[in-house]
Amino acid sequence: MVVPLPSLPEEDDATRNNPGQCKIFDPPGESHGKYGFSSISGLHLFAIHYLNSVHISMNTTPQVADLHVVRNVPLPAPAFVLSEIKRDAGEAAFVAQSRETIRAILNGHDKRFLVIVGPCSIHDTRAGLEYAERFIALASELQDRIYLVMRVYFEKPRTTVGWKGLIMDPDLDGTDNIPRGLMVAREFLRQIIALNIPTATELLDPITPQYIADLISWSAIGARTSESQTHRQMASGLSMPIGFKNTISGDLKAAINAIGAATKPQTFLGVSEQGVASAISTSGNPDCHVILRGGEDGPNYDKTNVQDALVKIGEAGFPASVMIDASHANCGKNHEKMPAVFEEIIRQRAAGNKGIIGAMLESNLVAGNQKFPQPLPDLTYGQSITDKCIDWETTEDLLRAAASTI
Ligand code: PEP
Ligand code: MN
Repeated sequence: MVVPLPSLPEEDDATRNNPGQCKIFDPPGESHGKYGFSSISGLHLFAIHYLNSVHISMNTTPQVADLHVVRNVPLPAPAFVLSEIKRDAGEAAFVAQSRETIRAILNGHDKRFLVIVGPCSIHDTRAGLEYAERFIALASELQDRIYLVMRVYFEKPRTTVGWKGLIMDPDLDGTDNIPRGLMVAREFLRQIIALNIPTATELLDPITPQYIADLISWSAIGARTSESQTHRQMASGLSMPIGFKNTISGDLKAAINAIGAATKPQTFLGVSEQGVASAISTSGNPDCHVILRGGEDGPNYDKTNVQDALVKIGEAGFPASVMIDASHANCGKNHEKMPAVFEEIIRQRAAGNKGIIGAMLESNLVAGNQKFPQPLPDLTYGQSITDKCIDWETTEDLLRAAASTI
C-alpha cells in the first residue's frame, strides 16, 4: 500500500524572511539573573502546560514518547552565551596562534615537545586558577624546549555513573544546572587565556563545542568515544588540533580509523549558533593524531608498542606521530607510577624517536584523589575528585628534567 505523504505547510512570511529561525523560541530568551536562563517566556510555558494537561485528560491513546523523560530544560542559544561572555580580538589571536604552534609541533616544523598537563577535571575554579598561576611561570621557564598546554577538562566520560564534570553539574550537588555550567566553563576558559595559557579539553557532548570551542587550543576525543561516529563527525568540523585515544580495550585501530573519518568532509546533525537543530557539513579537520593511553591488556608506552603504533599509523596513510598519555591505563590509574611512565616517554624521545610529538600528565595542586560525592566543605582543596593526579612539586620536577634532556 502506498501511504500518501502529507504535503508540506506553506511557509509564512516570518519564516521565509528568517531562515534558520524558530518561531516558538525567538527572540532569544530573557535572562533571569546571573547564569539563570529561560529561553521560553512564562506565557509559552503556561500554554505548553495547559495543552499537555488537556491532551493527557482527553486522550486515551497510550503515551509512546518521553516515557522516561522527567525534565527538559531549554538551554540558552550558543550565540547568547557567546554574547554574554565575549571573546575579544586579543583572545582570538592568542587561541589562533597557540593552535598554529600545536600544528607546527604535529607536523615537525616546531621541534619542541608538546605536554598537555593539568587536573583530570576542574571542579573548583579557585583551585584551578591557583594551578594556572603556577603553571604560567613553569611554562615560560621551559618554553624553549617544551610547549605546555593546560588541561581544562569540564566534561567527564564515566564508565558507568558519577559526576560528569563542571558543565553538567557546576554546583557538584546533582542539580545538573547545565545552563550555569556552560557559563562557568566559558568564563573560566577566558580567565586561563588571560594568563596567556593555551587550553586543552576533552569534547564529549556534541552540542558543547558551540559554547566553548573558540577558547580551546587542543582537544581530545576520549577512549570511550574514539570509536563513535558522532564524535568523529564532530571532530571533522572542530577548529583545533584533535587527539584520538586508543579505546578502553586498548584497540589502536579505532583511533586510526577515527583519523580517517575526522580528516574527511562529513555531514551530520548538530546545533547552530542560534541553538537550532541543523544539518552541518564540514571540510574535515587535517590536524588529527593518535594518543596512546594504555588499555585493558596493560600499558602501551613501551618502545615496542610505540614503534608498532607508528608503523600502523604510517601504513594507514597518516603522518607517523603519536602523543602518549602517562596517566590512565598507562600508569594503571596509579599516580605514583605516572612519573616513571613519563620519564620513559622522554627517554624514547631523547633517544631520537621524533614520532613521539607529545605527552599527557594528570596533575593537580595536591597528589591523589578524594572520594566524591561527599559534603562540599569536607573536600580537600586542590585535590582531584576524578582520576588520581601527581602533585605540583612532582609536576615541576618532571617537566624541568624533561626539558633538560629532550
Ligand atoms: C581523561 O582524560 O580524564 C580521560 C577520561 O581519559 P581516557 O579517555 O583516556 O579514559
Ligand atoms: Mn583522567
